[in-house]
Amino acid sequence: MTMEIYNTLGRRRERFEPAEPGKVKMYVCGPTVYNFFHVGNARPFVVFDVLRRYLEFKGYEVLYIQNFTDVDDKIINRAREEGTSPEELAERYIKAYFEDADRLGIKRATVYPKATEHIGDMISLIQRLLERGFAYVIGGDVYFDVSKFEGYGKLSGKRISELEAGYRVEPNPLKRNPLDFALWKAHKEGEPWWDSPWGPGRPGWHIECSAMAFRYAPEGLDLHCGGEDLIFPHHENEIAQTEAATGKMLARYWLHNGFLLIDKEKMSKSLGNFMTARQAMERYDPIAIRIFMLSAHYRSPLNFSEDNLRQAESSLRRLRNFYLSLEEGLSRAQEVEPPRELVQEIERVTSSFKSAMEDDLNTAEALASVFELVKALNPYLQEPHPSAQLLEMTRSFLLGVEEVMGIMGLKELKGGLELDVEVERLIRERDRARKEKNWAKADSIRDKLSQMGIRLEDTPYGTRWRRSNRP
Ligand code: AMP
Ligand code: ZN
Repeated sequence: MTMEIYNTLGRRRERFEPAEPGKVKMYVCGPTVYNFFHVGNARPFVVFDVLRRYLEFKGYEVLYIQNFTDVDDKIINRAREEGTSPEELAERYIKAYFEDADRLGIKRATVYPKATEHIGDMISLIQRLLERGFAYVIGGDVYFDVSKFEGYGKLSGKRISELEAGYRVEPNPLKRNPLDFALWKAHKEGEPWWDSPWGPGRPGWHIECSAMAFRYAPEGLDLHCGGEDLIFPHHENEIAQTEAATGKMLARYWLHNGFLLIDKEKMSKSLGNFMTARQAMERYDPIAIRIFMLSAHYRSPLNFSEDNLRQAESSLRRLRNFYLSLEEGLSRAQEVEPPRELVQEIERVTSSFKSAMEDDLNTAEALASVFELVKALNPYLQEPHPSAQLLEMTRSFLLGVEEVMGIMGLKELKGGLELDVEVERLIRERDRARKEKNWAKADSIRDKLSQMGIRLEDTPYGTRWRRSNRP
């Protein structure tokens, strides 16, 4: 099956095919670290985490890049207010980011570049833009000249004239065009600065992402993701800079999540209507917050309300109870013929889960199919002697769902759910190796599993596994 995704660039659905077979390079714009992130910010972190996990589940090797914007007006102002340095403030909130993201079950990125560690990369990119005539210097500032880049507006789908009309004019009257944006800002008293060919100063926000993406994916990204508020100007500017400087496409697919709303308004720091993810996790189970995030399609608006969160908590309870009864059922299961209609139900749900995920990451539908299975199987789990094969099929499906969505929570459950997810993943990897006739790899995975205390049995219905210390 090939996944279809909605590409903001071109505004249509497309089949997703990475440039290099088997490998996906993705970049998600990360937080500006001057505060705890709020539930709205958590939405892209969670949904693109699920996209990444799903691609890995399908067998892709994923390079996941998420930056930290650790130099910015907001950081500088906040540090000044608190009487601390921008570095100290950024470090503090990067640490807090990891604490909160870990609790939300967000898998760690492959790399977390920090803007301040890539100033040299930004300077070289700006130099290229100047050499190629796409930028100009005024005093100690450097600006990008949007009129020189033919494709300007292609992501947001707007022409320069339209954009100009709706865009606030920045204070510098020497700019050639109001849409021109700063690549480099001359040093001001009390701000952090770096040396550059144009004098001391600091980079503009947009060039940070272009430079870091180029550093880790010099041939271009497959996916570039973020909230829909980043389409213009941030992502439009990233495209202009990278393509003008390198002549290469920055990213082939652009994905944008819709807003998390509270009382019908976008949750945002500037409106002051936000709840930090940390506060939300004091009120609701972090995994329920994940379920809530996945209960809508990522491009639709999603309402943060007490009702929606309580509903997610009840879904979480149902799922956990189901899994516990399944484990319990397995302990009394027997080698009996599984009921045909339930086998068919598992097959149907497995396939509808996958088609929903392939359908532009329709997590809402995918979740619905998981709950259909819970409903259909719950009565059978009460049987005195359920079929081991049927329960194993169910477990295998649920562990796959857990690997992709992380919606049961790994720590709270007894019995090593985390380990079981890993066992299922290794079995899938072994199946793949066997299909490719890579026997050495298949054997080494079997050995690894055996060291973990897992015994495999290949049957006509697929690979079954059990702990060798269990009778
Ligand atoms: P920021 O730290 O403001 O740069 O935002 C980090 C990420 O959160 C970006 O991808 C934003 O687009 C996204 N974001 C901010 N507010 C919301 C919201 N209310 N709903 C969904 N995404 C948001
Ligand atoms: Zn960015």
